[in-house]
Amino acid sequence: MVSGLAFCGAMCYNRGMKADLHTHSAFSPDGISPLFEMAAAAHGMGLAYLGVSEHFDYDYAFYGITFEGETPTDETAYFSAARALQREYEGKGMRLLVGGEYGYCPDAGCCEKYLALTARQRPDFVINSVHSLDGYDCYFAEYFQGKPRERAYGKYLERVRESLEAPYSYDIVGHIGYVARRAPYEKKLLSYDDFPALFDDILRTVIAKGKILEVNTSTKGLKTRFLPEAGVLSRYFELGGRRISFGSDAHDTSRILEGFSEALAALKQIGFTALTVPIRGDYLEVKI
Ligand SMILES: [Zn+2]
Ligand SMILES: [Zn+2]
Repeated sequence: MVSGLAFCGAMCYNRGMKADLHTHSAFSPDGISPLFEMAAAAHGMGLAYLGVSEHFDYDYAFYGITFEGETPTDETAYFSAARALQREYEGKGMRLLVGGEYGYCPDAGCCEKYLALTARQRPDFVINSVHSLDGYDCYFAEYFQGKPRERAYGKYLERVRESLEAPYSYDIVGHIGYVARRAPYEKKLLSYDDFPALFDDILRTVIAKGKILEVNTSTKGLKTRFLPEAGVLSRYFELGGRRISFGSDAHDTSRILEGFSEALAALKQIGFTALTVPIRGDYLEVKI
């Protein structure tokens, strides 16, 4: 008799199902821990997959958004260091994936720059995220000035919908609900019930395009352990969505895999049975 394990092929992993696919190191403008420390910490924690997704914020450049003391990710330095580290971890039980988080911007020139970046570096995976709107990063107070909640959040979701049509290839739809992280409203959390039609359009498009919806646990100050909130995830499942990734959005070693077990428990309760790990166009299923 052959055990089930012999048949699992690419779905096999020997370090459990721990996969954190949204992390930043000191290569990112706002990252803290050096990349080699992030990798060593993740390996020590028993991760099967560590996705490094340094920021590429061509949207900031387009809008002229700058932050004091922060410099953009050095593309060449990052990719060469990360590829070297990736080789170092080969055969050590953890797959290090060299990726990027692209800050979506509808400007055609901006999208061209992402296309060129992808062609130059061939990242293992790409997270497409909406950070900027109206010339501001919607994480910060300026974006909300003079905007009622419905307008601030509605505009954000419309931009997320638009981002799904990006002309460059991407795998994961990053942190839907990011706009709420530091919003000034009494009811901060962006819920499915706030914009059901818009959410349905987004979720149906994610599914139709075969993309992966990210569950992101960087939610300090919000009444949820992950973004998007459970109502959105349930609806995604109901509509037939099965591709889910986990991302802590850690910017230092202390937050790697933060909230993983809570997120997984919630996903299982909804009905999800696997996480999806994108590697150069291959989508591996990791059973949970
Ligand atoms: Zn982000
Ligand atoms: Zn991020």
